[in-house]
Amino acid sequence: MEKRPTLNGLRPTSRQGAIFGLYVCLFLVVDGVIVASHRVIGGVNVLPLIFMFCLWLLGLLIVLLDRPGPVRNWAGPFLVSLSCPYVALWYDGEAILHWARSAPLPPWHHIVLINGLLLGGFGVYFVRMYPRSCPSCGLRSLIPLLRLTRVEKRLSRTRWCASCGETLWKDAEGRWQKERRRTWVEASLARNCASPEHSN
Ligand SMILES: [Zn+2]
Repeated sequence: MEKRPTLNGLRPTSRQGAIFGLYVCLFLVVDGVIVASHRVIGGVNVLPLIFMFCLWLLGLLIVLLDRPGPVRNWAGPFLVSLSCPYVALWYDGEAILHWARSAPLPPWHHIVLINGLLLGGFGVYFVRMYPRSCPSCGLRSLIPLLRLTRVEKRLSRTRWCASCGETLWKDAEGRWQKERRRTWVEASLARNCASPEHSN
């Protein structure tokens, strides 16, 4: 069940700080194991893959351990998506290193396709996920109102302010409008009000 979201803006909470501390510990353990064994397995340098795994790990920890709510649903997938530009830059770096060693570059259409998919796809996703300035409180904390487990098409343009709790959507003229439809956030608040034992 979704819990009542807190209005803390996009500043890290103490719980998120603890999650990050856990992540750093796990990262150091994983990195220490790799350094203690082999950085190159089967001729492939696995360190970049480990770093990519760590991006996924941080997003996964946020999803699993952070307080349920719109900020968690926004931050977890956003962190995981950072692996896309990372993989593109890693691929380009490896190609340049090969070229510097007088080895042939990968076919140009491979380079264009991989960069187009990973960087282009991430660019579109980044524009959608980037926080907008809230017209109600003036703070840049208006994030897409997402659910983790499904896509709600009727709320695909709806954003929720992590600072003031306002729910808004942008019309065709680019003006922010108050969301009139009931969202899962209001439904969650109503449930909590009706059932005090579920509130925090
Ligand atoms: Zn606001």
